[in-house]
Amino acid sequence: MATGVMGEFELIKRYFARPEIAQIQGQYTSSILGIGDDCALFDIPPDMQLAQSLDTLVEGVHFPGECDPFALGYRALAVSLSDLAAMGAEPHSFTLGLTLPRVSELWLKEFSEGLAQLAQRFKIPLIGGDTTKGPLTLSLQVQGLVPKGQALLRSGARPGDLICITGTLGDAAGALPSVLSGETPETCGDESLKYLLHRYWYPSPRLFAGQWLRQAGATSALDISDGLLGDLGHILEASNVGAEIEPDLVPRSAALDRYHDQDTALTLALTGGDDYELCFTIPRQLAQTLPAKLSDGCRITCIGQINDESGIVRDPQGNLLSKKAYTHF
Ligand code: ADP
Ligand code: MG
Repeated sequence: MATGVMGEFELIKRYFARPEIAQIQGQYTSSILGIGDDCALFDIPPDMQLAQSLDTLVEGVHFPGECDPFALGYRALAVSLSDLAAMGAEPHSFTLGLTLPRVSELWLKEFSEGLAQLAQRFKIPLIGGDTTKGPLTLSLQVQGLVPKGQALLRSGARPGDLICITGTLGDAAGALPSVLSGETPETCGDESLKYLLHRYWYPSPRLFAGQWLRQAGATSALDISDGLLGDLGHILEASNVGAEIEPDLVPRSAALDRYHDQDTALTLALTGGDDYELCFTIPRQLAQTLPAKLSDGCRITCIGQINDESGIVRDPQGNLLSKKAYTHF
């Protein structure tokens, strides 16, 4: 990329090859050849599978223009890590495709710091990428490792399994109008909205929960990016099963209930996206092994069960719950 002010190599060296982001030592990262050659190289332990996921975020489509670059870097990596969490994988490494309209050193500094903060927390080094000129676009590819044959798939749910959720739902969607109007958690005066905005910009990828669930015997899982009813539908379709859930059991934060009226809060929890919590199923006989909270503080709530009604979600009274139908309630 001809950047004018700063060459591509200088840009990569200054912002992305920094030790605090590119030389993180995780459990499987001692043998990595990272940024600087034509390819990154790494070994995969013989008993593990590589889990890989790519997400692309385009300015004006997936995030508002003029948003806080630190929060953007943090959120972009969090969203990608959430896919590893959903499979029960351990983070290994990631690459970054960065398309920039211009080089702003302040933007790059803050963006790379947002990435670095989360990368350090989950011990996932940046091992390469690509830098080009064009409309602001971020592509993040994450790699994780999971013991062979043990990844949590969408297709493993069986009738009788319990349906559970990590954390709370609806928070990020409850902040969306404010996100779009440019409000940030740092500047927001209302404590409840501040919390919701924080949930939008700084999602917690449930990596610990995902690995815990894989070991605990969960039968299926996914991360909720588009809303519970829609995403649960993916499990139902892949597993060829149905679901009964109790809407009032879907966990909501106190902030969501304070900031929105009850009907809106309930609708947001059932249909709102962007929380990046996990929805998973687990055999009923393992229910007593599920704690209300994992050791990292992540809440777990059972909201219903899988049945054999292919592809359909109902409430306990038998009413159909779909993203569309729900708004008629
Ligand atoms: P090539 O010309 O072989 O495609 P590049 O000049 O694009 O190589 O990249 C040089 C090195 O810098 C490579 O190791 C590449 O992975 C890394 N790199 C390029 N852009 C980024 C980025 N945005 N973030 C991290 N690493 C990057
Ligand atoms: Mg090359």
